[in-house]
Amino acid sequence: MTAEVRVTAPAKINLCLGVGPVRGDGYHPLATVYQAIGLYDEVVLRPADAPDLTVSGDGVDITDVPADETNLAMRAVRMLAEHHGEELTVAMHVRKRIPVAGGLAGGSTDAAAALVGADLLFDLHTPRDELLELAGRLGSDVPFCLVGGTAMGSGRGEVVTPVMTRGEYWWVVVPGAGGLSTPAVYGEHDRLSAGRRIAEPEIPDELLAGLRAGDAEKLGAALEDDLQPAALSLRPELEELLAAGRMASAHGALVSGSGPTTVFLCDSPTHAQRVDQGLQYELATEPGLIVKGPVHGARVVGGHR
Ligand code: ATP
Repeated sequence: MTAEVRVTAPAKINLCLGVGPVRGDGYHPLATVYQAIGLYDEVVLRPADAPDLTVSGDGVDITDVPADETNLAMRAVRMLAEHHGEELTVAMHVRKRIPVAGGLAGGSTDAAAALVGADLLFDLHTPRDELLELAGRLGSDVPFCLVGGTAMGSGRGEVVTPVMTRGEYWWVVVPGAGGLSTPAVYGEHDRLSAGRRIAEPEIPDELLAGLRAGDAEKLGAALEDDLQPAALSLRPELEELLAAGRMASAHGALVSGSGPTTVFLCDSPTHAQRVDQGLQYELATEPGLIVKGPVHGARVVGGHR
């Protein structure tokens, strides 16, 4: 058995997020394109006699991250154990760099990392399709966090199909102050759209064409998020931030998923620095994070026997 496994867990953004009419089971059908970006939590697992979890924050507030069995990453290990009918007891450390409740799938990616980490730690060799199935039961975004890259998500977001992309993109990521609860944003979305006919969600052709061509300008013009009006209704100050990013020459500006993180699309690190400086100058924002996308999904980067 391996003594320690170290896994990197990337954040995701939604390049588009179409939200359909609520289904009988209470979920909204989604049509989304995810992209994994170079902002990572780190999950370290060791075999242990009793389950243990510690969480540390590297520049992020971890007050709301449960440091017990309810943490999604610990639930992932339990689910893997049940799947194999084995007892898998781990001591886990989660080092968070992804803003919590930011619309960046921080909890989901830690869960994806825990699945691949525990699988290796206990030499389980779980087939990929079984890991993806367990991931989908843990949460809508977890399968994508395993797959990474750029991919379409349908169903609740858990049915993931890779998308053809060319080149790389640079993002300025501006964490909003405090988090936004995803259910609260969906609640506001339902309130704002009450009485309106809502079409089945679709992925815009122009967005896929922009990705295929590796054309940041084309992609920027096609970014869209059906949850953005709800996030802006709960956080009106984000409107000014999005406008300032476009003024500062970002190819596109968007609330990430359910927010409150905002992301600004650029075609190089220098362009991203310019946009970030523009935001700081206009609105006295804290420096944003400049990251690349797409990157790989949750991946083992180290460990020892
Ligand atoms: P969503 O995937 O719904 O868009 P999000 O990215 O906005 O979520 P997360 O960072 O996943 O938000 O946090 C949402 C909540 O999940 C937190 O407030 C916290 O209570 C809970 N949670 C459980 N496990 C974790 C974890 N490993 N990291 C962060 N939050 C977690």
